[in-house]
Amino acid sequence: MNMPFIDLHEDVLVAERTGASGTGLQTGFDELAESNVRVVLATGFTDVEDFFDPRAEECFGKDLEDYAARIATDERFSLITTAADIRRMVGADSGCGIVFHIEGLNTVRDHVSMEILLRDLYKKGLRSIGPLWTLNNPFGGGTNGADVGLTPLGAALIDWCESAHVIFDLAHMNPPTFADALAKIRKPPIVSHTACDALVPSVRNITDAQLRIVGDRGGVAGIFLASKFARSGDTYSSANIADHLMHMVDTAGEDHVALGTDLGGITSSLPSDIRVPGDLPNLIRALRERGLSDRIAEKIAFKNAQRVLEAHLE
Ligand SMILES: [Zn+2]
Repeated sequence: MNMPFIDLHEDVLVAERTGASGTGLQTGFDELAESNVRVVLATGFTDVEDFFDPRAEECFGKDLEDYAARIATDERFSLITTAADIRRMVGADSGCGIVFHIEGLNTVRDHVSMEILLRDLYKKGLRSIGPLWTLNNPFGGGTNGADVGLTPLGAALIDWCESAHVIFDLAHMNPPTFADALAKIRKPPIVSHTACDALVPSVRNITDAQLRIVGDRGGVAGIFLASKFARSGDTYSSANIADHLMHMVDTAGEDHVALGTDLGGITSSLPSDIRVPGDLPNLIRALRERGLSDRIAEKIAFKNAQRVLEAHLE
């Protein structure tokens, strides 16, 4: 079986920098290259705690430069900046296309600093932004933050992304920010990495009402693999992830479910049979055991994500 995969969220650099790549856990460049993941949204972020420390903002550019350096020297990887690039990679027999993604745009203070930063990062290849990460920031409320909605700056960021053909990601938003962002965006909504609140109640997981809206609006929600958010029984394997995916298919619809593994950034346990991107076929096997057709499995593996990513980049 050589089914391609699109993964809406991986922290590839984390494993590279901590030396975890090559240990058989999570993901680095080699693990990605040995998988059938043909398109990945690869994350850059800031790990400087004081967001307004100038070094915090520099992290974004440094991350994108590290990805670009790898792409320039390793023929297994290519940069994705357009919808045509996505189509090319989904049809390829090998290789992995990398979409540069920023998670937690916490260092921006105002409209001017946002425009300056984004112009620079766009030139470096940035094509995807998830503005929130855990806490509130000038764009709105994070899943662990206070109950605030999308700010005027958050609305301006959505306009910027839509006019620049940059992917906008609703992951990590609290419910009011999520609702405000949905009311604002015109493109199909993307929630890159989440799991089902109905199966494992968590502020980090998507509710059934949110799943229905994502489906109604033609978007996608990607399942992630962290046990902290997806584990409900004594054991933890692809079977648990399949439970979430079946629930997402039932609630949002078969055209609105995707993968956003978060491999590389998982701090709780991994499913016993999905340790690296090359293990994703085990998830497809688990879905087939539930009686899911190959046609729907393909939609979850790549077709749904492809449709929505192309709509954002085109
Ligand atoms: Zn995340």
